[in-house]
Amino acid sequence: MTKGTVKGIISNLVYVEVDGPVSQNEICYIDLYGVKLMAEVIKVAGNIAYTQVFESTRGLKPGNTVEFTDKMLQVKLGPGMLSKNYDGLQDDLNKMEGMYLTRGEYTDPLDEDSIWHFTPIAKVNDTVEAGDWLGSVPENWIDHKIMVPFLMEGKYQVKSIVLEGDYKITDTIAVVVDKEGKEYPLTMVQYWPVKLPIKAYQSKPRPFKTLETGIRTIDTLNPIAEGGTGFTPGPFGTGKTVLQHSISQNAEADLIVVAACGERANEVVELFTEFPELDDPRTGRKLIERTIIICNTSNMPVAAREASVYTAMSICEYYRSMGLKVLLLADSTSRWAQALREMSNRMEELPGPDAYPMDLPAIISNFYARAGYVYLNNGQTGSITFIGAVSPAGGNLKEPVTESTKKAARCFYSLSQDRADSKRYPAVDPIDSYSKYLEYDEIQEFLNQNIAPGWVDKVYKAKDILLRGKEAKDQINILGDDGVPLDYHSRFWKSELIDRIILVQDSFDSIDKSTPMKRQAYMLNLLLNICDTNFDFESYEELQPFYSRVINVLIQMNYQPFQGDKFKEYEAQLESILAERRVK
Ligand code: ADP
Ligand code: MG
Repeated sequence: MTKGTVKGIISNLVYVEVDGPVSQNEICYIDLYGVKLMAEVIKVAGNIAYTQVFESTRGLKPGNTVEFTDKMLQVKLGPGMLSKNYDGLQDDLNKMEGMYLTRGEYTDPLDEDSIWHFTPIAKVNDTVEAGDWLGSVPENWIDHKIMVPFLMEGKYQVKSIVLEGDYKITDTIAVVVDKEGKEYPLTMVQYWPVKLPIKAYQSKPRPFKTLETGIRTIDTLNPIAEGGTGFTPGPFGTGKTVLQHSISQNAEADLIVVAACGERANEVVELFTEFPELDDPRTGRKLIERTIIICNTSNMPVAAREASVYTAMSICEYYRSMGLKVLLLADSTSRWAQALREMSNRMEELPGPDAYPMDLPAIISNFYARAGYVYLNNGQTGSITFIGAVSPAGGNLKEPVTESTKKAARCFYSLSQDRADSKRYPAVDPIDSYSKYLEYDEIQEFLNQNIAPGWVDKVYKAKDILLRGKEAKDQINILGDDGVPLDYHSRFWKSELIDRIILVQDSFDSIDKSTPMKRQAYMLNLLLNICDTNFDFESYEELQPFYSRVINVLIQMNYQPFQGDKFKEYEAQLESILAERRVK
């Protein structure tokens, strides 16, 4: 193995003079008087390797020795990852004392002593390749597939496979042979270099169905596709983290991976303490059973932020290859980009816009491209849906991270300061936000078939009402209440109906926080019917009291169990209010 000597230190950037070959992204360990600090090669120039150290470099001096590993940053994959809390380097945070690891301490991501009940799927003489299912073990409620390691190239024949029974992850569960007759004993553990996408699938079609999140402003107005991508840019305090939490708790996915990247430590502590308590509305079990949390908080070294998003994505790809529907949430990808910027600046690279690295757009789009819906080699399907939060400084959506992400992600959920200030949560702006999937023929067909005939037209109608309402509001603001025709007030109040009943959603109410699609469709129909009704008003002053009553009753409906007695009671009340002014 190549060895090296520390030549220079600029914060987390360490220059190492090497005595042999090293490669881009290779991992090395810097010896700090017995403590080994993990670092990654980010650039090689002659016999100098530029490394980013994943820990504090406090105390490091020129002359310290370095050992290279010939391996890239990798994840260790196998049963036992569900419910775990990892840091960006996949250290098991439950195996440490206190909240953070001490320097130079790395823990095993898996548990070598636990016993798993293995049932074979492959048979002797089967031809297999990377990603093929050899067998399965139950992990919580997931049928965890043990696969041919993704790093094995070409085809192999199964020479032997163990009988159904209890095994440790390090036991040999199968032996495969290659064309030359060389034997490879396989266990339940495999490794993957996180910066490379796992490509053990047949094909990745364009997304053609939607993924329910339970969040109305997303599902009703701007649905995200299963295997699709979206992002939520928003200034500080506009509700990005709360929105990600509610999506993670309510979305219709088999498995949720949450990458908390560079955000405040207390939010992450909340995540850790809150999740184990929460019930999964879909399975009735605990949410944590289908969740993996990867966390690099603001007080951990910036270099590990980059690692954390890649580690999270690789874990998602691993579970996708088992035929699962995975949802990845990252909060916030801006912190990751800022870490890239810091390193790039320390290396004195030619900077791009706002001093971010020139290749930032490519880095972001390559990352988003790892999401997707796939057909596996055995014809089964799996998906990764990815939603990233972006925190543009000062809410400036023209800054490079937002702009680059906009090119990569297909859904744009823009959180607005105004809406947050007026407590209209989730603060997703209905006018600026969009879902490109809504324009796909496949998705339109899916929605019309699965929700209701003509559904897509209704969605566009609702969007139109919101836009016309905003225009009317702007005119009223300029010309005054009595300076505009009555119709303008009417348009404004119709958009208020959609806004207050569909868009505004209380993420802290046990019922309102998640709305099944069937209920969303029912409410949208109800509202569009009201919007289509002619009401009789003498002057604009009569609209506000009338619509306020309508809105109040509708909000009460949102808080009641769907189609329950209370719900129906409020619906009857609504009808009598509407009847007061309906034009016969
Ligand atoms: P960000 O991550 O964008 O900085 P947060 O998600 O932490 O913002 O939200 C900031 C605060 O806004 C929360 O602590 C909460 O008080 C309020 N908030 C955000 N979203 C909601 C919501 N859906 N319902 C009620 N309050 C919310
Ligand atoms: Mg936040």
